This record gives sequence, C-alpha cells and structure tokens, in this order.
Amino acid sequence: MSLLRFKMFEKALDHKPVEVKAPAQNPSDYFGVMVFGRTQMRKYLNKQIYESLLDTIENNTPLSADIADAVAAGMRQWALENGADHYCHWFQPLTGGTAEKHDSFSEPDGTGGMLEEFSGKVLVQQEPDASSFPSGGIRNTFEARGYSAWDPTSPAFIVDTTLCIPTVFISYTGEALDYKTPLLRSITAVSNAATEVCRYFDRSVERVKVFLGWEQEYFLVDDALWSARPDLVQTGRTLMGHESAKNQQLDDHYFGAIPQRVLAFMRDLEYECLKLGIPLKTRHNEVAPNQFELAPIYEEANLANDHNQLLMTVMGKVATRHHFRVLLHEKPFKGINGSGKHNNWSLGTDTGVNLLKPGRTAFENLQFMTFLVNVIYAVHRHNGLLKASVMSASNEHRLGAGEAPPTIISTFLGTQISEVLDKIESANGNEDIRFDSKNVFRMGGLTQIPSLLLDNTDRNRTSPFAFTGNRFEFRAVGSSDNCADAMIVLNTAVAEALIDFRKRVDARIANGEKKDKAIFEILRELIRECKAIRFDGNGYSDEWRKEAERRGLDCETSAPLVLDRYLDKESVELFSKLNVYTAKELEARTEIKWEQYVKKIQIEARVLGELAMNHIVPIASRYEDILLDKVWKMSQLGMQSKSDTELIKLIQRRTALIQKLVNDMIEARKVANVIENTRTKAIAYHDTVAIYFDKIRTEIDKLEEVVDDQIWTLPKYREILFVK
Ligand code: ADP
Ligand code: MG
Repeated sequence: MSLLRFKMFEKALDHKPVEVKAPAQNPSDYFGVMVFGRTQMRKYLNKQIYESLLDTIENNTPLSADIADAVAAGMRQWALENGADHYCHWFQPLTGGTAEKHDSFSEPDGTGGMLEEFSGKVLVQQEPDASSFPSGGIRNTFEARGYSAWDPTSPAFIVDTTLCIPTVFISYTGEALDYKTPLLRSITAVSNAATEVCRYFDRSVERVKVFLGWEQEYFLVDDALWSARPDLVQTGRTLMGHESAKNQQLDDHYFGAIPQRVLAFMRDLEYECLKLGIPLKTRHNEVAPNQFELAPIYEEANLANDHNQLLMTVMGKVATRHHFRVLLHEKPFKGINGSGKHNNWSLGTDTGVNLLKPGRTAFENLQFMTFLVNVIYAVHRHNGLLKASVMSASNEHRLGAGEAPPTIISTFLGTQISEVLDKIESANGNEDIRFDSKNVFRMGGLTQIPSLLLDNTDRNRTSPFAFTGNRFEFRAVGSSDNCADAMIVLNTAVAEALIDFRKRVDARIANGEKKDKAIFEILRELIRECKAIRFDGNGYSDEWRKEAERRGLDCETSAPLVLDRYLDKESVELFSKLNVYTAKELEARTEIKWEQYVKKIQIEARVLGELAMNHIVPIASRYEDILLDKVWKMSQLGMQSKSDTELIKLIQRRTALIQKLVNDMIEARKVANVIENTRTKAIAYHDTVAIYFDKIRTEIDKLEEVVDDQIWTLPKYREILFVK
C-alpha cells in the first residue's frame, strides 16, 4: 500500500461508531417538533387565522394579506422560540438539490436599533437573485427576475437555525423554473380527473389525493478514502477501479446485520428526520457492499417529495458527523449494483378509499379495475415520455444494466390481475361482471377467477413499473433524482387517460347504455389497446428487448435521444391541455436536461483524462522503471528475466494506449464543444466522447492488477467498499 493510501486507510479504520445520544423520549414525543405543523399552528395562531390557513391548505382558497401577516407573526414567534434567527425561501431549482437564501429576522429599525421583522409579505413572496439558476433561456429572453412564492400545503420547518419556507420558483412571466410548480399542477390535473371518474361510483367524493412513498438507496463510504479519490469527489462516482475479488456475489450483504458505524449514522439520521416530520420507517442493507436503503411512510406527493429533497440534504450533513460520505450517484462502482429510488404511487379519495386497492364489493372492484386499467393505459400511451422523465447522464448507467429496470417501460401486474384482465378482454359483451361476497371475481357465465383480492405477493423485481397490491411502484427513478419529474409525467398521463375514459363512457351512457355496462365495455377496449405494455417475464433478458421492439414500445437507450420524447407532439399536447407545462416551458426544461448531460460528461471526461495522465500513467511508468532497472541488472549478471520483460511490454502497451485514448477523447471533446445546438452537442458527447470512458478505464483497471500495490495511490475498491 502506498503511504498516502495507507494513511487514509488507517484513518478510516480509526473511525469508530459515533455515539449518538439516544433521545430520552419516544419518537412520538419529538416527531415534527421542528415543523410548523397543525399542532404548532393551533398554538401560535388564533382560531380564526388557523381556520383560514387550513382552508388555504385544504381547499386552495387565497390567503388575504391580513391573514398572511398574522400567520407570519405566529410562525416567527415559534421559530424564534425554537432557536431560529434566520429565515429562507426553500425551493427546488432545475440544477437539482435545493436552494435557500437566508435572511435575518432582524432588520434595522431606522433609528439605530434592530427590529425583529418578518411580515406576511416576505412569507408569501420573495425575489431571490436567481440569475445563476438555469432557466433554459426563459429568463434571458424576458426578465432576469425570478420569484419564489409560498406553498402553504407543505409546512415550514427549521434546519439548524434557519426557518425554511417551502416555495415554488417561477419567472417574472409566470413560467416554472423549478420542480415543485409543475408537480403541483400535475397533482391538480390528476386529482380533478380522478374525482370526476370516482363520481361514477361514489357521489360523495370531493377530492382525490395523490400519494407517494419513496424508497431511497444510497452508498456510504469513509470520508478519508473518499477524499483520496478525485473521481468520487468531483463526479460522485469512481471512473476507474478494479473489481474487488469479493463483492456482492455471496449475497451476504442484503438484509444482513447493519455495521455498527452505519447503524449509528442511521439512528442519528432517523432522529434528525423525525424531528423534521419525515416519517422514516424502514432501513436495511441493500444488495451491494456499503449500500443501504431507507423508506418513510407514504404521504401526499408534494409533501413526500419535499421530504425526499430534505432527506438528501440532511443525509449529507449527518454523514459528515460520522466520517462518511453519502453517494447518491446511480452507479458509483462498476461491477456492483447501482442505486435507485422506487416511487410507490397511488390515488386515494378524501373519503379514505385507496383507488388502487381491490375492494370488498363488486362496485368497489369495478372502481379498482377502472383506475388500474387507466394507469396502465396511460403508461402505455406515454411509455417513452415516462422513460425520459428518469433519464440522465448518471441514471443512464443503471437502466438496462441487468441489475435495474431495463430501458423499456412495461408494467407488471402479477398472474391474478393479468388473468382478470384477460378474461375481461375476451368476455362477450352480454355477460355481467361482479365480485361476490368472498371477493371472488365473477363474470356472467364465465368461470370464476379466484382470489384476485388476496394479498398480491408475487413480485417481479425486473419490472420498471410494477403493481404491488395497493399501489404502483415505479422503479426506474434515479437515486439522485428529484422524484417530481417522474411523478409529473405519471400524474399528467393518468389525468389524460381518465378524462378520455370519462368521455368514452359518457358517450355510451348518452346512447342509453347502463353505466356499469358502459364502464365495463370501455375497460375492455382499453385493455385491448394497451396490451403491449403488459409484461410479466424477465425484463433483463435479451428476448424482452426484441419482443418489446416488436410490440412497438420505446426501446431507445441513448439519454439525449430519450429526452426527445418531451418534445413529441403528443407530449406537448398532453402537458399543455392539462396546464402542466406550456410548450415554452417544455422546450426550456429539455434544453436544461441536454445542457446538464453535456456538463456531466464533460466533467467526467476531464477528471478521467487528468487522472489517467497525471496519476495512472506516471505510477505505472514508475513501476515499469523499477522493472527495467531489475532486468538490466539481471542481464549484467547474465540472468534471464523473460517474465519481467513481458510485464514491461504489457505495461508499456497499456500506458501507450491510455495516452492515445485520452488524446483522442480530448480531440472528440474539442469537436463537440464548438457545436452550438445543445441537443446536437449532447448527442455528440454521448456518441463520441463518453465512448472513451470504458475503453480508458479497462486499461487502467488492468494496470491496477499488475502495478506494485506499494506505489498505487488511489484507494482500491476492496478498501473503499468494505470499511465498516
Ligand atoms: P418494498 O421494499 O417491499 O417495496 P418498502 O416497505 O421498502 O417495501 O417500501 C414500500 C413503500 O411504499 C413505503 O414508502 C410505503 O410507505 C409505500 N406505500 C405503501 N402503500 C402505499 C400506497 N398506497 N401509496 C403509496 N405508497 C405506498
Ligand atoms: Mg419497493
């Protein structure tokens, strides 16, 4: 081991579990104490103000300036009592992550003193200096200003000593510059459409809610070893590194005992998250060494997404206390599994019914079938777009890599539900459909299809979009993604499907058909129309790729081209008719995605080139020199040294190849860099620059195998991945 590596490794081994003071109380005593939630609102706002605010939160009624002032006063008092001295508008710009600009609660009072000032006006709206956030050209052409505006549906919270107010971030002309705005619009769209459809079944339903329960995968690495890997530091992933002899082949990590140091981190993280109202519930090891997962109890999608964003920030902070670094990159290490985020999604009514859960009565089950079929219909219709929603330079490594969902979107429903759909499809129109009291699905004279409604336990881990008993689980989302992009497409596509469904059913009813029959008939049509999306087999197999192509599903794998789906005519129409994105917003956002793709690959190419040239080649050459010296000395004694000579030749061949490949890659970058059009540039980076990464790393990884361990300075996989 080189001295540097040894020092880092020693340091890593020295890092012991950090004692976390176990809170004296039960989680219920500190859950949400750092959130201005209902309990706090009741305490710090008078009854009338509290009720107006609640009305705003629940029914979107506008908040008057007087009420905003009163809310701000209560919020400020609560914040000050809980140690806050600053406040900020907390938003989710398109760079990813969250942004905040802190202002002090105190302001000069004009007579030389300070005044504690926080009015309704600053609570509700601000104008952060936003010129360095990406806008995809929106702000350049119009106004440089961007506004952040309070989202009262997501409660304010305190991090460290700052009161954070969740906000949307929009341009002067009203275009969304963030993730939250379109997410809220898409929730409204699907909620309205679903409410209308619910009314076929239950007229008392007034609102449908969208639920999201994310599962977050991540890696932990020791911070000393991390800091000795410039690739991890700068790109979030290892651009080189020979596979460790032992990695995940024994499957001994998954659900195994959590290492003490990690457990201390997790407990600390859970404590911090629970105080912030993030309802964390499960934690466990994942498949790869040093890989873990956590998941909360699901919540309404907007809040759940804020919580996921907040979690990612808190994770980083807590990790430092434990001498860890959190890797949220989708593929930090070659040869072992990458990380994703599973988005569990469902719709539920204000009357407490989960619309994706099989029910007890025939009526409830027809409702369940209606929603289930409309979701898969939507996924079929926009399968390419759904894939675009999770595509990025980093997630591109993971999708289709034989360990994560393929780059083809399909749905898995399980044998029982699939059977029911098949029966509905083939039934002749005169039979009626019903579920008996034992939850057995019956259709006229057809044989019964048993136990649809029992626990749906058959699972298919290879499916990107699986029905799991009472929800759909979208598994192609990247671990570093903002969940919103995926949820926006899904919500909007389902909204469209439900609206069309209602039109088709209403047309039949207008022709004198009975409601149930009309619904049933349309479901049959939909099942037939979207059959191609249903696939219960192995999504990792090569046969599936061929089959999917035959079925006309989107099989594109190149990230820049997958992003084209956002600008397809059908997509632009979809988003604009449901008021989720204007054509201009879509263009701007896709532009930003291409731009980010280019930047990510550009940075990786630079880091890889530098490391190869000023790290790997010199080290290999030094070893080569030692060998040459030995061979020369041996020859002086008349001794043979054939294997050493071979090794020298091999090292020479590989270093020469690395030098050539790095030069070629630089040339390719020069060509790509002068391309004006962002899309074309992204394609060039994908097709002509990124293709060098694997070629170069293969040579480096081979060198790592033969070069003297004592002079190899970069921490190796076997060290990074197994430090506890
Ligand atoms: P698994 O790993 O088996 O998929 P987990 O328990 O890790 O299961 O995660 C399941 C996630 O799904 C949790 O976040 C949970 O809250 C969420 N979930 C459960 N029911 C629903 C639902 N009806 N709608 C949305 N999310 C749900
Ligand atoms: Mg899951």
